[in-house]
Amino acid sequence: MSTATLTIQQQDSAHCLHPFTNFKELNAKGARVIERGEGVFVFDSEGNKLLDAMAGLWCVNLGYGRQELVDAAAKQMQQLPYYNLFFQTTHSPAVELSTLLAELTPEGLNHAFFTGSGSECNDTVVRMVRHYWASKGQPNKLEIISRNNAYHGSTMAGASLGGMGFMHAQGGLPLPNISHIDQPYWFEEGQGQDPQQFGLERAQQLEQKILGLGEDKVAAFIAEPIQGAGGVIIPPDSYWPEIQRICDKYDILLIVDEVICGFGRTGEWFACQTYNIKPDLLCLAKGITSGYLPMGAVIVSDKVAQGLTEADTEFAHGFTYSGHPAACAVAIENIRIMQQENIISHVRDDIAPYLAQRWQELASHPLVGEARSKGMVAAIELVADKNTLQRFSKEQGAGGVCRDICINNGLIMRACGDTMIISPPLVITKQQVDQLITLAKQSLDDTL
Ligand code: PLP
Repeated sequence: MSTATLTIQQQDSAHCLHPFTNFKELNAKGARVIERGEGVFVFDSEGNKLLDAMAGLWCVNLGYGRQELVDAAAKQMQQLPYYNLFFQTTHSPAVELSTLLAELTPEGLNHAFFTGSGSECNDTVVRMVRHYWASKGQPNKLEIISRNNAYHGSTMAGASLGGMGFMHAQGGLPLPNISHIDQPYWFEEGQGQDPQQFGLERAQQLEQKILGLGEDKVAAFIAEPIQGAGGVIIPPDSYWPEIQRICDKYDILLIVDEVICGFGRTGEWFACQTYNIKPDLLCLAKGITSGYLPMGAVIVSDKVAQGLTEADTEFAHGFTYSGHPAACAVAIENIRIMQQENIISHVRDDIAPYLAQRWQELASHPLVGEARSKGMVAAIELVADKNTLQRFSKEQGAGGVCRDICINNGLIMRACGDTMIISPPLVITKQQVDQLITLAKQSLDDTL
């Protein structure tokens, strides 16, 4: 370890508190220092080149080092580095981006409420749907239904919507009037059952929950099209149509959290197009700027926007950085590049099918119980016994070991327990997918 790296690590331990981190464990070990990025690779302070199969945190969709995005931010910062959308002011980057998003998102979704992150989007929707129902004369419609093992961010409302056991209970959560149903995670919870029947039954839990709470009490249901941080949980095809039917039947607003899935990850601009879902509210972040600047947006349907407008009262909610001009400029440029480089068809017709085919090769590895992918997200389930699909014991758990081995081999994969997941930059090439698979195979062998 170089002296320069050690110095950074010491200062880091002394002064920087990391998100989602066991501080004691990190301080004992020292953080890896990431210095720069290029394409699908990042480089650490010891000169190691790592294939970033997580695109940072599911966000660097166009890869590292895109000069156009840097230039867009710099140009906007020179002209107007900051102004807000409060107190009846606006600015061109926010107007241009909201217009562009209205064109790109499915029909009927025409209004953007900007935020600084995915968590802020989900805090926003909690307040917005309740405000909407109150405006419609139904103030008792307060309940929001989410799912176990969902991830919707780590602000108080975002984490309350989340359902990751102990993690989401820390700090006295959840907030009231939020409840959860089970997830459509066939490998973990549905084995022995037909996957489509399992998907249907998991969706029907929504109906049971609505009836249990009282339909006049339920404001909305929120879900990720594919659960990301929960372990890339791809629902059976039967799941989403049934969820849509139930939301329509009981007039429950459907909030689709596409913080990960949005902007091409599933091979369409938005995963609600992939799954034919009709959201009332659509949460976007991450890929909206390819992670170059923090930004989120709640895309609101005409129906909800009309309700909010008719209310003729202030929606008392927003952030200093809602519609930050430089973030908007980067988002506009990000979309322009995606259009110019045909990123959607690159994903849908070319690289996602290739990844799917190569990823399946991992399924035959003795450690792997299942390999699955959809678009540019993929997962493998690590098992102790390939025949019975028996998991490792909690103490034994192989995911953390495999993740560390991957990094030592030059590959960034993430471990969700014993589920290894990837979400590579969308610009990854076939040759780089080959490299990813080679490194993954080698890492699995080394984990054995
Ligand atoms: N929603 C989903 C589906 C996410 O995956 C995440 C983050 O990973 C969030 C919300 C929170 O986004 P942020 O970390 O930008 O607050």
